[in-house]
Amino acid sequence: MSSPDPVTVEAELRETVYDVASELWERPELGLEEHEAARLLSGLLEEEGFSVDRGVADLPTAFVAEYGSGEPVIGILGEYDALPEMSQAVSARKEPLESGAPGHGCGHNLFAAGSLGGALGAKRAMESGGVEGTLRLYGTPAEELGVGKVYMAREGLFDDLSAAISWHPGWLASATRGSCLAVDSLHVTFEGTASHAAAVPEAGRSALDALHLLDTGIEFMREHVPDSARIHYAVTGGGGAPNVVPAEASGLYYVRAESREEVARLTEWIEDAAEGAAMMTQTEAIVDLVNSMYGLLPNETLADRVEEVMASVGSVGFDEADRAFAAELKSTLDPGTVENAVAAQGVDEATEAELRERALADEPVRTEGDEGVGSYSTDVGDVSWVVPTAQFRAPTWPVGTPAHSWQAVAAGGDFGREAAVYAARVVAATTVDLLSDPETLAAAREEFEERRGGRGYETAMTDSPPADRSELPY
Ligand SMILES: [Zn+2]
Repeated sequence: MSSPDPVTVEAELRETVYDVASELWERPELGLEEHEAARLLSGLLEEEGFSVDRGVADLPTAFVAEYGSGEPVIGILGEYDALPEMSQAVSARKEPLESGAPGHGCGHNLFAAGSLGGALGAKRAMESGGVEGTLRLYGTPAEELGVGKVYMAREGLFDDLSAAISWHPGWLASATRGSCLAVDSLHVTFEGTASHAAAVPEAGRSALDALHLLDTGIEFMREHVPDSARIHYAVTGGGGAPNVVPAEASGLYYVRAESREEVARLTEWIEDAAEGAAMMTQTEAIVDLVNSMYGLLPNETLADRVEEVMASVGSVGFDEADRAFAAELKSTLDPGTVENAVAAQGVDEATEAELRERALADEPVRTEGDEGVGSYSTDVGDVSWVVPTAQFRAPTWPVGTPAHSWQAVAAGGDFGREAAVYAARVVAATTVDLLSDPETLAAAREEFEERRGGRGYETAMTDSPPADRSELPY
């Protein structure tokens, strides 16, 4: 077994990570519209000698860049979509650069830059000798819409990987050992009959009544679902004028649970409830599955390896200016938010007290919170059911910062870039390490098969991916 080798990210590579992170941050693009980001990233990889396949899996902003040949095959994941209405300056107060414009609230500008740096670092290590195999960077778009990796997995693009490596911006450096919830998103439309609501109500059939009955049904259903399941909804259409019986009403429903099987059972129940609501109101229910994701399949073997690499890479190289800005940003967070976020990590009391006080948590930490099932979902889950997947978090944000907050956007345009360089080093070192360690790869595969327990990967998504955002009901 080889020891983890923290590939030195040379000055030039560091500059590339900073430049790419800045460029993506300054020009945030929403999911399925990340044309410039995909062009920038795939172009840089091509210049470095990677062969690039663009528009894979019928997703115009997805790509696969490959270097080397033969086994093993290590895949690095990169995301680059932004979030709507999250524009924010590098400032310690809420201050949009452009009101209503998108912004990198989930730090995907850093995610892409860090993964790119990791791929380039690993490639240079391969070039300088001794490391053989195939290295791939997967440009995975539209994570916030949950449509990128699912279609790439369905296309079989991850099938021949020996392992995948992913990471995500956060406020702590830690290897991910836990799972998250699988999810289905349903768009339900009821179709009724319009009529004058006062003059001839008997001629009308209200689609909105049906929607209310479905939602009421779901509220009663909650008592009889597993504790960890989550069902939430939004009304996306409910008629226009009270004096017209609404002929159409619609809602978007997210159904989450710990296993795909449980999600499928709950989805079927909601489909039945929609049918029942339609019968009660003499309307018609149309249920569309708009996305469907797996929960993460953990891999302790790979988490152990990532943890060793993180320990050997050491701490993030933040400077005093980074710490000062992080402290300013942290002071704008609600103290309860920070306290709850730190408490949720499941670390010992002394570490918890220390974390609460710090602006930046730049040393790797082992947390119990990383071992449970998080109440979130990600399309990395689908990849993790196809191939053993390693994941970690890097401290791109001040301690306790929630994702999708203006503070996360501000940090991502500033000191977050330093944490992306750190992520690049961890990704590069893990990649090189796995390329030269068939024993760990075999152990990771064995654990993967054991956890899957004979269950294969099969997405519930059967249609073509959406061509653009207008095809999605959210
Ligand atoms: Zn994210």
